[in-house]
Amino acid sequence: MAAHFVCTQCYHVGGRRSHTPGSFGIELILWFFFIVPGMIYSVWRMASKKMVCTQCGCDQLVPINSARGQEIVMMVQSKQSAQKEPNQYPHE
Ligand SMILES: [Zn+2]
Repeated sequence: MAAHFVCTQCYHVGGRRSHTPGSFGIELILWFFFIVPGMIYSVWRMASKKMVCTQCGCDQLVPINSARGQEIVMMVQSKQSAQKEPNQYPHE
């Protein structure tokens, strides 16, 4: 079950994906030839790993049931008032 998140940049609701910076190939080469830089590179990649929006790729995501998330959902819904779609998001 995917958690629902709202992007504060493009207001995309629902998806987020894991984004790990750097390259696995570089990591492998560093480990193969130089153990210490490989270790540092791996740690950096782990530390920099973050969840990003599936639409715009930014990391400014908020949980949909947070105050900010609800605010964005309300705003998007009022914009889409022309097409009344039943919404499944739980309201607290
Ligand atoms: Zn986005």
